[in-house]
Amino acid sequence: MAGLTTTITAAAAAKPHFILIPLMAQGHMIPMVDMACLLADGGALVTFITTPVNAARIRPSINRIQASSLPICFVELRFPSAEAGLPPGCENLDLLPDSKLNKPFVESLPLLRSQLELLVGDQIPIPDGIISDSKHAWASSMARKLCVPHIIFHGPSCFYLHSTLSIKRHKILDRIKDEFEPFVLPDLPQRIEMVRAQVERWVDSPTWEKLRDECYAAEEAADGIVINTFEELEPWCIEMYRKATGKKVWPIGPLSLYNREMESRARRGNEVPVLEAEKLQRWLDERDEGSVVFISFGSLARNPIAQLTEIGCGLEAAGVRFIWVVKEAEVESGTEAGKWMEEFSERSEREKKGIVVKGWAPQMVVLSHPAVGGFMTHCGWNSILEAICAGVPMATWPHFADQFLNERLVVEVLGIGVPVGAMVPVKPADAERKEAVVGREKVGRAVEKLMDGGEEGEGRRRRAREFGERGRRAMEEGGSSYENLKGVIEYACGHKNRRNGHLKI
Ligand code: UDP
Repeated sequence: MAGLTTTITAAAAAKPHFILIPLMAQGHMIPMVDMACLLADGGALVTFITTPVNAARIRPSINRIQASSLPICFVELRFPSAEAGLPPGCENLDLLPDSKLNKPFVESLPLLRSQLELLVGDQIPIPDGIISDSKHAWASSMARKLCVPHIIFHGPSCFYLHSTLSIKRHKILDRIKDEFEPFVLPDLPQRIEMVRAQVERWVDSPTWEKLRDECYAAEEAADGIVINTFEELEPWCIEMYRKATGKKVWPIGPLSLYNREMESRARRGNEVPVLEAEKLQRWLDERDEGSVVFISFGSLARNPIAQLTEIGCGLEAAGVRFIWVVKEAEVESGTEAGKWMEEFSERSEREKKGIVVKGWAPQMVVLSHPAVGGFMTHCGWNSILEAICAGVPMATWPHFADQFLNERLVVEVLGIGVPVGAMVPVKPADAERKEAVVGREKVGRAVEKLMDGGEEGEGRRRRAREFGERGRRAMEEGGSSYENLKGVIEYACGHKNRRNGHLKI
């Protein structure tokens, strides 16, 4: 344990106290840091569990929080890499060299429990609520042992949560054996078709049964569920999910809206060199309003060279201005991909067509720049919400996990997306599968349609702006997410009062 990075004062100890346990993956940790700030802003004390490598990555956010008066304490536990058989330093899903290591990674998470238990009641005050990512099933029994409420945090859309629960309850995957046989999503007011391959999750794979069942059991036992969404975005999904689970479901997003200033938007998740961020800003400042496409596939998806060239050629054929984020691992120098990307990037900059960002981009900053008029996304839920908040329509290109279902929500329910046409899921491990490569024609067509100034394109833009406006209202005082967050804090307060009145722990 590297130690507490903030001291908890006696005054702060009078507040309801939450322990937050995020899954160590950027798409789960970033929104949970925002959640910690919102809870602390709302009058709670927060202990945020992390590990040394992860703390180093969110250091800009930690520094910003510590410079403010927010009562959030970051606790670094030792990540059990060695016990899990993972290479040293692999403390985050996006640091794993091979997706075959996902399973040992997730299986190692319960090993954090004993370290945390030693601290609770000693260096960490007894919490009034534990909010853990759904993959930390072990947090459920720890909460029971401490006699405190356990609340699950789900990262994906409620549309995904409701659909996967219905698929499970209707035993659809027991009936449909073929990967690409279409079926209609059950219990929805609108007809939406999917294929098995697009809804299968890691936890549905053979050998994941134990972990899957533990996660289900933790969810069944949970006192409530918080989701990064808002009531006005997917109202019927949220209502049906409440009925289906019979639980308190608190939509408290879009969590990214906690970051109002440029500085905090630029520093979410990973340190972005100031020069890089300023270069992007200057380049965007010189472009016309709504003329640039932003292309990024989140923190985990990896594209092989065969796919990168199709994207590049598709963009060139469409003739749009762009900012495209590629992973260091996709374009390592000296490799065929590295050389191709270097040439493409130089040519694009020289001709003022676009910028290729290698590594991590300040996504919220880019999306909220007026020059950005479209977002080609892998449909990670955070990315979708961030685009909605910026009022930017999307070209949807799901890769795996919740992303195909998120795509259906964006395209078929909300009407703010153009599908690129990806049919086959690609995990990092099978990224070379030839049939999964989406051709340049599809990429070009989707971009042209996305940026189209006609009636259809205008409709998508208008709806995206309207949802963005509703998202902002949801987070304002009196808004639905604001009230839901208050509900979570009051729930913990109720527990604290009962504990102080009747229980000695
Ligand atoms: N992100 C970013 N810069 C990047 C890549 C990702 O800021 O270059 C952020 C993005 O804004 C989002 C998160 O990382 O908040 C990715 O989460 P998402 O759910 O979209 O996708 P995942 O990474 O989980 O697949």
